[in-house]
Amino acid sequence: MLIDSHCHLDYYTALELPEVLARAAAAGVGEMVTIGTTLAQSQGLPALIEAHDNLWCTVGVHPHHAAEAPVPAPEMLAELTRHPKVIGIGESGLDYFYDRSPREVQGENFRAHIRGARLAGLPLAIHARDADADIALILREEREAGGDFAFLLHCFSSSRALAETAIAMGGYVSFSGMLTFPRSNELREIARDVPAERLLVETDAPYLAPVPFRGKRNEPGHVVHTARVLAEVRGLTPAALADLTTANFRRLFAKAAA
Ligand SMILES: [Zn+2]
Repeated sequence: MLIDSHCHLDYYTALELPEVLARAAAAGVGEMVTIGTTLAQSQGLPALIEAHDNLWCTVGVHPHHAAEAPVPAPEMLAELTRHPKVIGIGESGLDYFYDRSPREVQGENFRAHIRGARLAGLPLAIHARDADADIALILREEREAGGDFAFLLHCFSSSRALAETAIAMGGYVSFSGMLTFPRSNELREIARDVPAERLLVETDAPYLAPVPFRGKRNEPGHVVHTARVLAEVRGLTPAALADLTTANFRRLFAKAAA
């Protein structure tokens, strides 16, 4: 069984969602985590998924939305994780590619989420795009000031140096459909070298469909294509890769009881 550690199920209509979930089940994708991107949206996620034992969610404010409302207090973020379906914080982080929010606000928002994750004792899903140096800096500063916290770099597309920094801090690295793209040789080399016990897979659906669906709308069932490429790169069978990434998921997202 595979787990899609990062998707956006609220982007499908009420008519589409049952079909998306049925296709995921048929593809062997047993569980999914649907991700918070604003506080208001995050608070609606438990209701969206409560009828399904195999769905989980997170709460958080994406860097794109960081300036739309006051940066949430860490205590408030931690409070929102008390619902049994909420197994993590995020996605938060820095996006200097789109720069949709001022960088300073993105930084404050990211720090609040790190502190919230530490308070809640839950992992933080980090969005990092074209911001390697500041992601590493903030991770280091927050760790030195307040101690350890669990996290993953979602939809990894950053430098080898950032992967190594994250791994040295105990972080996990999650690979998406980008791993299957013909030009992603460097990404596949990084994926080959991440310690086995830190690997996760995800779709980031409905974005970033893997080959052979590239350019089409993505969905959680397609994580099998990313997993197949990751298995090839690692010299594992698809079954062994699924066992590995699912075990890693359970260790990191310990609140998602089997
Ligand atoms: Zn993201």
